[in-house]
Amino acid sequence: MANKSTGSTPITGALITGGGGFLGSHLAERYLRAGHPVIVVDNFCTGMRSNVEFLNQLAKEKATAFLAIEANVIEDWSTWSREIPKATLSKISHVFHFASPASPPLYQELAFDTLWVNTKGLERALAFADDLAARVIFASTSEIYGDPLITPQPESFWGNVNSFGYRSCYDEAKRFGESLIFTHNWKKKTHHGLVRIFNTYGPRMNPSDGRVIINFLTQALRSEPLTLYGDGSQTRSFCYVTDLVEGITRYAETKLIEPVNLGNDREFSLLELVEVIQTIFAPKKLELVHQALPHDDPRQRRPDLTTARTLLNAWAPQVQLKEGLIKMRAWLEADGLDSNKPKGDK
Ligand code: UDP
Repeated sequence: MANKSTGSTPITGALITGGGGFLGSHLAERYLRAGHPVIVVDNFCTGMRSNVEFLNQLAKEKATAFLAIEANVIEDWSTWSREIPKATLSKISHVFHFASPASPPLYQELAFDTLWVNTKGLERALAFADDLAARVIFASTSEIYGDPLITPQPESFWGNVNSFGYRSCYDEAKRFGESLIFTHNWKKKTHHGLVRIFNTYGPRMNPSDGRVIINFLTQALRSEPLTLYGDGSQTRSFCYVTDLVEGITRYAETKLIEPVNLGNDREFSLLELVEVIQTIFAPKKLELVHQALPHDDPRQRRPDLTTARTLLNAWAPQVQLKEGLIKMRAWLEADGLDSNKPKGDK
């Protein structure tokens, strides 16, 4: 099977699982602004109703077809998909399978949901898309590289993953998802794709999500000490959400089936991240409180973006960390800090 397909797959409409979540809602926003019909499906186990309210409002302003469906995509899709108006259904060219808890605390709390949404849920997304001759884009992750043995990580690195540990419900489910996409394309001659998403941040992240940037910003705004896990020498590379969405949409409109890394390739230790955040909050002095490093926490992470630059029309991240953090802080101060909680927020 050729692994590089040429040609394009223009978007005419999108169904986004996890559209109430952070990345899913930004993708939905992008397509609504472009005038494309959007359907989001979410069970709000980690997604936020406030994100869907935002999209609803935007769709009204743009007079664009928008439908929000509350459902668990692990379960039978026919119970809700038959309610989608035919005119909207016929426009769906892409199914983005972005439903999944994504932060270590939440995917560990919701470990079974995490396993199934990236496997059974993905299988349902593929079947639904095949019926419409639509293209699936699966949200894979840098976590498939585990605690990487090489840096930066190119797509050709097979990973160093603990299959029998607390992170494995996420890492191995995403790895299975990649295998499912590969095998589906191979056996059924389809052109579904996947992107490997590295650490991303921005407005509309759930304040209770637990990932480092949203934690540090909410803690700084509440004048609480920043919870630094371990000694802070571990590294991550942080991508602002609009850069990521630009990469995803470019990938979606190709016929590529091979994995492509998307993220920002500027690497920071956690201590360096604290320094950047400190500059934003000066003269207020931020305090640190050290906590234990979580199980199997990767020591380093940084994407090799050569494939993305080459195949996605010279795509490259544009937003510097400090600039992105300032925007995210502004959102948190304006209306994000009190966004609804991941569960029980009806
Ligand atoms: N981390 C931290 N304090 C926090 C949250 C996370 O020091 O409040 C660390 C975490 O141990 C990891 C890094 O920040 O080394 C990134 O963690 P995150 O949960 O954002 O995502 P990961 O990259 O581990 O999936």
